[in-house]
This record gives sequence, structure tokens and C-alpha cells, in this order.
Amino acid sequence: MPDMLAGQCLCGAVAYRVKAVVLAFYYCECVPCRKTTGSSAATNLKVAPVPIAWHRGADLVRLYRDRHGRHFSKAFCTICGAGLPYISRDGNALIVPAGSLDGPPPMAVGHRQFAAERPDWATLDHELPAYRGFAPTTDNGAQDVSS
Ligand SMILES: [Zn+2]
Ligand SMILES: [Zn+2]
Repeated sequence: MPDMLAGQCLCGAVAYRVKAVVLAFYYCECVPCRKTTGSSAATNLKVAPVPIAWHRGADLVRLYRDRHGRHFSKAFCTICGAGLPYISRDGNALIVPAGSLDGPPPMAVGHRQFAAERPDWATLDHELPAYRGFAPTTDNGAQDVSS
């Protein structure tokens, strides 16, 4: 069943809506996520790929694609810098930063990924399933088509 996900950036200039199936909800503890969020981990929803409906500020959204290492991307509002949804570089997933949502996500956080890169000062739920890299399964029982 698809879920309706609606959100906006901090300053409100950019707003979006996405209707899609949520595959997973996770903490990513990789170094690039730490750097781009300025925090210990990113908290993202992995969603089956669909076009993003920008309700406001589509022209203000900038997409950064890192050239080295993993296929790392980040979309953000060019006014306030807040993270926004983007299609993964391979096109197999839509990544939605949970903090950009206006309402609660449709599932609880299910796992941690790139757990080996977690800094010592970070405190997260260590009881969650943890993977060295991308998780081999989704959090809703669906087959993961992106890895
Ligand atoms: Zn903004
Ligand atoms: Zn990451």
C-alpha cells in the first residue's frame, strides 16, 4: 500500500508530496551522512522510486552528487540548507530525509547501516539490526530491488 509523504524544508520555501511504498526506515551512520547532516547519523526513508511532486520551490532545490566513494547524494534547499528527498543515483530508490516530513513516518526505524562507521560519541539504538553496508533486506518485508 502506498503511503502519502508530505514535507518541507526549514524555511518553508520548498514543499513536496510523494505517494509511494516505503521500503525501509533506517539510520545511516556512514561518514558522508555524518558530514552532510552535521549529526551522528542520517535518518532516512527508502521509498520505491516515484517522481517527487514539488508543491513549492522546485527551482530552489539543489542536488549534490559526491564524486568519490559510494554513490552518495544530498538534495537541499538553497535558502536554508535543509535536506530534501532525492532519487538515488542508480534510480532504484527515492530517499526521503525523515526530518523533512510534516507528519510521523508510516513505520518505525528498522535498522542501522554502515554501523562500523559510527563515531564513538554517537548514541543510537544498538539493539536494532546493524549492517556493515547497505541492508540486504527492507524493513517492511518487501524485496529490496536496489542492491
Ligand atoms: Zn528552505
Ligand atoms: Zn550514509
